[in-house]
Amino acid sequence: MKCFHHNCQRQTVVDCIKPELLTDYPDFLDLERPEQLRLLPKYIEYYCLEHCQAYGYCWQCGQHQGPAIRSLLNRSGLCFQCQIRLITENDF
Ligand SMILES: [Zn+2]
Ligand SMILES: [Zn+2]
Repeated sequence: MKCFHHNCQRQTVVDCIKPELLTDYPDFLDLERPEQLRLLPKYIEYYCLEHCQAYGYCWQCGQHQGPAIRSLLNRSGLCFQCQIRLITENDF
């Protein structure tokens, strides 16, 4: 799988879940698994570590951060959750 960004040739990509998934299906996590698997491919896009940040995704978990939250991120490009995980992993 190649990065979806125009002209980017990188092949190391993160599965990014589009935020529209939860807008369209707020109860997605409660759906039956076959239904989830049927819907998911339409809402996944693939970006390399550099471009997932450019598109507002955390490069570790692929979660969309949204423009407002993104501005709160540090330069690591990690979402709040992943930063917390990193801190606690280093500490324990
Ligand atoms: Zn890319
Ligand atoms: Zn994350």
